[in-house]
Amino acid sequence: MPGTRESTGRASAYVPMRRCRAVQMVWPMPINVWTVTVAALFTALATGLGAIPFLFLRKKAIGRTWLGTSNAIAAGFMLAASVGLLWQGFNLGPGRLALGAVAGFVFIWVFRRMIGENEGLVLGRLGGADARKALVIVAVMTVHSAAEGVGVGVSYGDGARLGLLITIAIAVHNIPEGLAISLVLVPRGATVASAAGWSIFSSLPQPLIAPLAFLFVETFKPLLPAGLGFAAGAMIWMVFSELLPEAVHDAPKRALALGGGISFAVMLTAQLFLFGV
Ligand SMILES: [Zn+2]
Repeated sequence: MPGTRESTGRASAYVPMRRCRAVQMVWPMPINVWTVTVAALFTALATGLGAIPFLFLRKKAIGRTWLGTSNAIAAGFMLAASVGLLWQGFNLGPGRLALGAVAGFVFIWVFRRMIGENEGLVLGRLGGADARKALVIVAVMTVHSAAEGVGVGVSYGDGARLGLLITIAIAVHNIPEGLAISLVLVPRGATVASAAGWSIFSSLPQPLIAPLAFLFVETFKPLLPAGLGFAAGAMIWMVFSELLPEAVHDAPKRALALGGGISFAVMLTAQLFLFGV
């Protein structure tokens, strides 16, 4: 079968420090470019689950305070995800990680300037400043998930067991990221279905890039730390230039500290369990 790889027994990419027992069972499926694509499609779909809590919220509850608090919660999730990416990248190549992070800052800065203050921008139900904010978070999360697609593909290059573990870990980690996107979109008037759709869209680079990274694992491996740095740089930029300033403006200090602090702690703890980060 073309693209089938044998395990080299060497772990790389997102190096897990804890191994879950279920994954240590013998994996009966052949690992090839198609199973890697399906696995990465699964991680992308998981991102859409992040919109589900909004099905149970009443529209009336959404005011400026709630918008600011949502931004703070989204910022907490994204900062913790960035810490995880930086940690993983640091273990693989600190120099390339730093270069990638700078490239991530520059990319998003240029992207934000390109959008400018375009009042005519429309994204589904959103217009003006809301549409710009929505476009920036969807773009940032889409760019960052490309690096995770490389992580999934490269991990299958090192064997089914590591690949499956990374697939589960990325899928679980994607749910709060979908929640972060929904926290920015829904309080601005987007529907829950469109928030779920944009969340899944933001993870589509994963099924597109993971099979390529699997097929050309030796080419992609050295790029991984730079990709992780790029992803973290873009998300940190989003947190400090878009989410937190608005949160400080709209939410009471206590809501900001609680929302941001708790979401940061929850995401960091989840990553500690999943990746050992
Ligand atoms: Zn992520």
